[in-house]
Amino acid sequence: MNILILGSGGREHALAWAVKQNPKCERLIVAPGNAGIGAIAELAAIDPCDAGAVLGCVRKNKIDFVIVGPEAPLAAGVADALRAEGVLTFGPSAEAAKLEASKAFTKEICDACGAPTAGWARFSDAEAARDYVRAKGAPIVIKADGLAAGKGVIVAMTLDEALAGVDDILGGAFGAAGAEVVIEEFMAGEEASFFILSDGSEVLPVGTAQDHKRVGDGDTGPNTGGMGAYSPAPVLTPAIQEQVLAEIVRPTVAEMARRGTPFQGVLYAGLMIENGRARLVEYNVRFGDPECQVLMMRLGAQALDLLLACAEGRLGETRAQWADDHALTVVMAANGYPGAYARGTVISGLDTLPEDSTHMVFHAGTALKDGALIATGGRVLNVTARGATLKEAQARAYEMIDRIDWPGGFCRRDIGWRAL
Ligand code: ATP
Repeated sequence: MNILILGSGGREHALAWAVKQNPKCERLIVAPGNAGIGAIAELAAIDPCDAGAVLGCVRKNKIDFVIVGPEAPLAAGVADALRAEGVLTFGPSAEAAKLEASKAFTKEICDACGAPTAGWARFSDAEAARDYVRAKGAPIVIKADGLAAGKGVIVAMTLDEALAGVDDILGGAFGAAGAEVVIEEFMAGEEASFFILSDGSEVLPVGTAQDHKRVGDGDTGPNTGGMGAYSPAPVLTPAIQEQVLAEIVRPTVAEMARRGTPFQGVLYAGLMIENGRARLVEYNVRFGDPECQVLMMRLGAQALDLLLACAEGRLGETRAQWADDHALTVVMAANGYPGAYARGTVISGLDTLPEDSTHMVFHAGTALKDGALIATGGRVLNVTARGATLKEAQARAYEMIDRIDWPGGFCRRDIGWRAL
């Protein structure tokens, strides 16, 4: 079959790498892709949020199946537009994508189906929000309701921080995403991510992971889009996974179906685990980046079969096969990231590295210029390895990193520490 993947990051490179290995895949196009993806798939220079352009690409290339990588095209209704034209598509409708696009919506769903999460309230009036914060006290969590690229959340340890957060969000610092503020009870514990496919009624877990959001070793410095990840996450024990499926995921999927807006795609549940129980922090409606890289490394070619079963409503008869192994990815970023960074620095040494089922360098912000590989973004490479143990996967990833020659980039040296 002919397959189109929308997106341009390390997540989409990993999806393309897995899909390409499946014999069902005859032709693979990624839009818009990057230099690494261009080595294994055709690239189409279209905006993945432009439904008309995506449909045009589907028709021209006789695409049989579309996989939507990032959240922006989902929130923009690209999956709806494709399905309306009869195109088989992996990814939720814009209505179901509200599970990521509106924090208050997710909280309403949790309340409606009894899923354990932090206590909460929503406000558009600053005075009422401040009164609520003063009544609850710190620590407390203040969030812009809408999509703010991970920057609209203030975990306030003091009352002053919390009040300043309310003023920032309702004062317009996040534009329309901050028209409402969601105020949450602070949850203590350890965070982990659980990825579950849903075809609208059945669910199928496809892996657990933990990421590293801070830029510096030892989880120090500012937040980033993610500096590394590993799978599985030992803190998500089989018993806790069962609890999450029974108390959070299945009730959410049933509530979405009951409302006439069934969720089809991958639910990425951000969880807080304390005393052997999980509560929901947030949902995302797509694979995480860089978590997808470690999940795809472990799933390999069967990923396509699973995504197809999800899109075709056949999850009830589908199982995932797991090797009893570990995968770990280290993000290499441009010096200065997540602040200002230079673009265009040259990366070399990648051609000397192995590329096989245990070693892969997935590209994020890269391009080819005059035959040289250059960095074009903040997060640039995802150096990914598998191993019989997490320690072995980690050692393999850092061996590869030490052979990459990129003076313009850096990485954390401690990815995986929490589980080691
Ligand atoms: P991201 O894009 O980084 O996932 P987001 O903007 O979607 O972030 P959340 O995931 O809701 O926002 O919150 C970001 C982070 O803030 C969480 O990963 C968690 O570390 C922390 N956090 C959020 N809500 C709470 C809470 N109620 N208690 C404690 N920590 C929280």
